Amino acid sequence: MAFPVPVIVPVLLPLPLDQPYDYLLANGDAPSPGSFVVVPFGPRELLGIVWSRRSPRPVATARLKSVQTVLDTPPLPPTLLAFMQTVADHTLTPLGQVLRLAIASTSALAPAPLKLAYRRGPAPMPVKPSIVTARVLAAVGEVPGEAPIVAAELGKRAKASAAALRQLALDGLLQAVEVDTDGGPASPDPERPPLALDPQQEVAAAELVAMVEAKSGVALLDGVPGSGKTEVYFEAVAAALRAGRKVLVLLPEIALSAQWLERFVRRFGEVPVAWHSGLTSAQRRDRWRWIARGQAKVVVGARSALFLPLTDLGLIVVDEEHDQSFKQEEGGIYHARDMAIRRAAIEGCPIVLASATPSLETILAAGLGGHVEPEANWRHLHLPARHGTAPAAALELIDLRRQRPPRGAFLSVRLRQALQDTLERDGQSLLFLNRRGYAPLALCRACGHRFRCPNCSAWLTAHRLRRRLQCHHCGYGMPEPAHCPSCGTVDSLALSGPGVERVAEEVRQLLPEARIAVMTSDTVGTANAAEALVAAMAAREVDILIGTQMVAKGHHFPDLLTVGVIDADLGLAGGDLRASERTFQLLYQVAGRAGREARAGRVLVQTHVPDHPVLQALASGDRDRFLQVELAERQEAGMPPLGRLAALILSGPERPLVEKAARELARAAPFDPDIRVLGPAQAPIALLRGRWRERLLVKASAEVDLQAYLRGWLGAQKFSSKVMLTVDIDPQSF
Ligand code: ADP
Ligand code: ZN
Repeated sequence: MAFPVPVIVPVLLPLPLDQPYDYLLANGDAPSPGSFVVVPFGPRELLGIVWSRRSPRPVATARLKSVQTVLDTPPLPPTLLAFMQTVADHTLTPLGQVLRLAIASTSALAPAPLKLAYRRGPAPMPVKPSIVTARVLAAVGEVPGEAPIVAAELGKRAKASAAALRQLALDGLLQAVEVDTDGGPASPDPERPPLALDPQQEVAAAELVAMVEAKSGVALLDGVPGSGKTEVYFEAVAAALRAGRKVLVLLPEIALSAQWLERFVRRFGEVPVAWHSGLTSAQRRDRWRWIARGQAKVVVGARSALFLPLTDLGLIVVDEEHDQSFKQEEGGIYHARDMAIRRAAIEGCPIVLASATPSLETILAAGLGGHVEPEANWRHLHLPARHGTAPAAALELIDLRRQRPPRGAFLSVRLRQALQDTLERDGQSLLFLNRRGYAPLALCRACGHRFRCPNCSAWLTAHRLRRRLQCHHCGYGMPEPAHCPSCGTVDSLALSGPGVERVAEEVRQLLPEARIAVMTSDTVGTANAAEALVAAMAAREVDILIGTQMVAKGHHFPDLLTVGVIDADLGLAGGDLRASERTFQLLYQVAGRAGREARAGRVLVQTHVPDHPVLQALASGDRDRFLQVELAERQEAGMPPLGRLAALILSGPERPLVEKAARELARAAPFDPDIRVLGPAQAPIALLRGRWRERLLVKASAEVDLQAYLRGWLGAQKFSSKVMLTVDIDPQSF
């Protein structure tokens, strides 16, 4: 008999560590990389996965601890392991923290709960069965081998008590078994007939299908709102399914995608497997297993779905690729679009980036900016016209310097008339203001005291519905004060500026007969509430919808005739270099909601700076000219996507320590003629959730290997335990 030889297994743990630790496995073969194991770690037991590479600091075998359990959870596939390493390398996030993203819900790993069920037992039928017995035996069927029925269900069908069923099992007439209840997902059917595509859709769809067949390529699917981008990439989804491969679709706000799911069902007959933060832990567990076992054919999810253990991918789609919510800002900072492109390369499948307002990164890579040649393997697919007869909505700028709203109001006369007129014509309106709450500023009328958050460098926003002042960064809140904490004056609270609640109040006074709804994260806190409101709007139960950027996303409201933008200048203020790009995207998307079907729509945009390039681009509809100007400015400033940038944020509860650490870090920066280190300076929000923040910006030209430089620099740094360093490659705001 051979002696079992212990093997050394490297185990990656979900901790901020870059390397696996070695463990011993007493006997048997080493589990394959990606297998789930439980190991002792200090006083704790941790879930980890077997990694493909040994720890670089080997420990004497005698001192190694042993793996406690090897779980029978399906191992993470090799392509996912490779992808995790890529994400860690690109974002300078410790590998163990990337693992945490991949096993975000450990409940996904718990075994499926087993339920008591019964099937026909071995005992022969009694000569004179009682009525209950006869009903039960009829319900479970004649044959002992038939599929078991869950006890609760059987009791209901046969009108039998749990005790009666137990007795029948004791008598041998039933056989008790335990069943795994997680079933499996439905399979979308690619053979159902698609909509008849129009000629421009046909061309784009054919190109995507060819990419699916070639198993490579990156396509920018660039189409105006209503051009049918979804219908077009559905053809690529169908092609991948026909080839027996899987599909991953990333959407910005899965919460708002009921309309998307409906369309998917219309095309493919079944729902895809949805993955988002609103799932219960039981749903997560089941769905994660379906995916790990290869049962899920199409997975649609928010950015975290990028780390699911899908295999055999035939296509990845990133819809609304410009959307900011693809950037994960905490616990491992990454951009889901950029990482999706890398995952597609690792999986050997094509990727589609769909948008009406592509990010400058994508514009540049697709060779659209006129600046550089397109990157190899990138394709630009253009859908310049809406599907069908709907003409593009007319867009009009309202110059607030000339057409000032009435005193204390925020809607100009022109916009008021448009709302009234739309209501009379039996149409719907949408008002957009990217500001939650009632008023952005709360102050004392007597002494001018302004209310600010104690945990953040931010003013408090007044929320009238709740009679509270709230911080939008950390969630801090206080009741509306009865007197000023600074001068003591009673009833002196003044609320200044508009938020959506205040706009709703104004519209209610103006059009008391209109049915008004407000859509912000305050009024529709859950995914279901948001879906219900979108459904109510689509069903014409709402006349005027007022909301923040939540309303800008790809909803399709056939009777929406008028879109009003209350303050187009909001996003343009401040020194952020991406401000113009973002404002353009947001306003263009909002405007795209108007007049989606036969009746012509109009868009009214209130602004104090009608000559601003963003507003001129919107008014003229000349997106490409605007993009050229933006790219030229980024070129000039050496900023992304034409230069490279990283932000290093140092944060901690004690300001002097944070400042000292930032100064020391800056001093330690290695000299490199192609790299500039700017700062330290206060981060844009200098105090956030009770932590002080200092920032260094690292700028380099596009050819420089910024990650290598940062690794060389940061790897040697030691910080006080009260200071944390966060690396943000390609920060969204700078
Ligand atoms: P986009 O994503 O480009 O804004 P959508 O894919 O949402 O456009 O399409 C807009 C609307 O037009 C949807 O209601 C869609 O069902 C409809 N549509 C698009 N293409 C077709 C087509 N070929 N036949 C019928 N309806 C279509
Ligand atoms: Zn705060």
